[in-house]
Amino acid sequence: MLKSILTTSVLAVFFVISFNSYSQEMPDDLKMYEIIDEVSAERLETDIRKLAGFGTRHTMSDTVSKTRGIGAARRWIKAEFEKISKECGNCLEVYEQRTLVKADPETRIYEDTYVVNIYAIQKGTDYPNRYAIMSGDIDSRASDVKNYKIDAPGANDNATGMAGAIEAARVLSKHKFKSSIIYAGLSGEEQGLYGGKFLAEKAKEEGWEIIGILNNDMIGNIEGVDGVIDNRSFRIFSEPYSSTSTERSLLMKRFYGGENDGDSRQLARFVYETTKAYMPEMNPIMIYRLDRFGRGGHHRPFNELGFSGVRIMEAHENYNRQHQDIRIEDGIAYGDVIEGVNFAYCAKMTAVNAIVLAAMASGPASPTDVKVGGIVQPSAKLSWGKVDGAKGYKVYWRETTSAVWQYSRYVGDVSSFTLEGIVLDNFLFGVGSVGENGYESVIAYPTGVLRN
Ligand SMILES: [Zn+2]
Repeated sequence: MLKSILTTSVLAVFFVISFNSYSQEMPDDLKMYEIIDEVSAERLETDIRKLAGFGTRHTMSDTVSKTRGIGAARRWIKAEFEKISKECGNCLEVYEQRTLVKADPETRIYEDTYVVNIYAIQKGTDYPNRYAIMSGDIDSRASDVKNYKIDAPGANDNATGMAGAIEAARVLSKHKFKSSIIYAGLSGEEQGLYGGKFLAEKAKEEGWEIIGILNNDMIGNIEGVDGVIDNRSFRIFSEPYSSTSTERSLLMKRFYGGENDGDSRQLARFVYETTKAYMPEMNPIMIYRLDRFGRGGHHRPFNELGFSGVRIMEAHENYNRQHQDIRIEDGIAYGDVIEGVNFAYCAKMTAVNAIVLAAMASGPASPTDVKVGGIVQPSAKLSWGKVDGAKGYKVYWRETTSAVWQYSRYVGDVSSFTLEGIVLDNFLFGVGSVGENGYESVIAYPTGVLRN
């Protein structure tokens, strides 16, 4: 008797844990495993060495030299995207976005400087104006952020993110996707997030429908400054809810919940779930924070214009190898040099991005105008707006303290549903769109309340 009670309780605990680990279903699609296998650590190594080899990629560095400075680096990046495009029958549109930033002694740009982004667009077959974006940064820096002459190889920060975006383009350009994918090299990051701001502004002006931006900033270091070595973990930083939230929507959160359910947070969950589904050897860690404590990255300017975006990066940073002049001091080697990059890990991180981009660009859009209600009833009601390309919808819910969606129910091609026996007060709810191919959208959190 005692034994059977024990067995039952152990089973129950196991059930809860396994259910908690992840729940957004991903289709059994062999293409995803092909994509993972196609990412090449050797090609990443070649590209990271090439980028570090430009000596410095400081935003204000030489633009004329063929071998040194940011001009040579961006011409090489553009040529790589063009080469990839040629190999896929011109499937990429390669762009250069040049913006003049006027000298301002109060800022880190103290001479007139062109901030130049290089990006490639792989147009979607069904929804060309809907974009999944992966970004890395072109620029680098040394100890003094204003010194554009000294060596700043930026091997990890952020040749890894840049090389990752180029490699993702090589791999994904062999496949077709419903939505568009952008592989972006952004510049002016270290001087004040300029490149991201300019691309986000362009997206806003041109009405791009952005599913999400995956900002990769340092995806190659596996040895923390504290000596911890970990080649499986990585962090996904996301803001809790949009900084553009209206006062009314903040008031709604106070009374209805949703403090941890902004669009970028849902994107972070999507990255987490996709990784768990196809790369179970990896250990994604969601960090409930816009970015590292007091520090910035290129997803932020997108967030500031209301777009979903997360920062993806290594789990253990090595501060001796970031933003440091190359030198030896008290027996410690400083500098962001090639020796600090683990190419196999960078390949894993690139594969994470590639499958998330593929999943985002394969699924339908998230349902619109999701509303939830069911006050003082033992049920929860949801309604939403249907989207093009969805065969049906899935209702998700989770305990209020759970970081990931725990429970789901496919409800078919309807625009409202009542979950009987699920008390509204005790859970948080969301709705996802499901495509014919099995791919799902990023889950949408309710932005309105249904009156009974
Ligand atoms: Zn940096």
